[in-house]
Amino acid sequence: ASMLGMVGGGQLGRMFVHEAQALGFKVTVLEPEAGSPAAHAADVHIQATYDDAAGLQQLADSCASFTTEFENVPAASLAKLAETGFVAPSAACVSIAQDRIEEKAFFTRCAPQTGILPAPHAILRTATDLENVSADLFPGILKTARMGYDGKGQVRVKSLDELRTAFANLKGVVCVLEKMLPLAYEISVLVARGADGQAVVYPIAENVHRDGILFTTTVPSPHVSADAALKTQNAALKLIADINYVGVLCIEFFVLQDGSVVVNEMAPRPHNSGHYTIDACVTSQFAQQVRAMARLPLGDVRQHSPCVMLNILGDVWFENDSNIERQPEWHKVLALPSAHLHLYGKAEARRARKMGHITFIAPTLEQAQDEMQQACAILGIAL
Ligand code: ATP
Ligand code: MG
Ligand code: MG
Repeated sequence: ASMLGMVGGGQLGRMFVHEAQALGFKVTVLEPEAGSPAAHAADVHIQATYDDAAGLQQLADSCASFTTEFENVPAASLAKLAETGFVAPSAACVSIAQDRIEEKAFFTRCAPQTGILPAPHAILRTATDLENVSADLFPGILKTARMGYDGKGQVRVKSLDELRTAFANLKGVVCVLEKMLPLAYEISVLVARGADGQAVVYPIAENVHRDGILFTTTVPSPHVSADAALKTQNAALKLIADINYVGVLCIEFFVLQDGSVVVNEMAPRPHNSGHYTIDACVTSQFAQQVRAMARLPLGDVRQHSPCVMLNILGDVWFENDSNIERQPEWHKVLALPSAHLHLYGKAEARRARKMGHITFIAPTLEQAQDEMQQACAILGIAL
């Protein structure tokens, strides 16, 4: 079997490894942490940081094609691997998604074709930039331009005064201030594109966040109109083609209370909101990533069952509001007929840490939702 190279060792890498192995490939994972989810599953684990020259050389020597599961992998590492092999997605594509300023500029540049703009925003590099911020951006959300995920590095600000304080606390980090928008609901669109330019788009996923972290994904989306679905799916196809992206890309959109659509951000990889595709679609997002990087034909995206995906955070290993640990009652969850449990094999449970997910696959969406609620009751997750 030929060997695929993966930079990053988290749960996305682990699920990629499983799908790659199912398709007859072996996988080498470059990851500094010994006990990480993908390192366990990999055929070969190179234990080194993502920018370690010797580690990258070893990866380059053993594989002909490479991908990443980690949004903040140094673009220079991907560029290095591209000297000897095929990297999907490319360093140029990944670096757009790593920087909210570049990402928003990309969405804005493509808006004439997509008809969808990002949220009104201002770029904040220096204290002087604050004084030129339009009053219309308040209340707003201050986001670091780089490295943010799961709502980390975000501060909600109601006034210029609050913005000054929040920005000063970040000590010189480049930020974006976004206008706080009246969201009706949130959706994401998963697209994949092959090296030959062929592209496929998955059904619209509807996402509920809690404390900035994805809580559930429901597909089909209970709220999205046929119009908004078509518009965002077409936008995703335009965006992925514009930058000649190869691999799986996930784009998050906001649907506002007036029905209009705003593009939030994109992830240059399989995405948490696409985990449902493992159990509910003919081709999962991870299998699709394998196909794209190995220059195989992309697979059918058809969804064969309605589903709800519930994220499992480390919190379920703890008694409510205490540090007393407990073992979640998986045997009760697994007694629910629609439940597919996925645990990522992380050594230590911590609050707000993604430990696994459960996909509920049922003949009707109502049944999937009902069993998701039963699982929440079993695991002590408040609804
Ligand atoms: P992810 O883990 O998805 O990468 P992130 O840290 O990059 O998260 P965002 O996706 O920008 O953060 O924001 C997290 C959540 O905060 C959004 O899903 C949405 O619920 C809320 N949010 C972000 N920006 C806005 C906005 N401009 N108006 C209203 N709500 C917002
Ligand atoms: Mg993000
Ligand atoms: Mg997001």
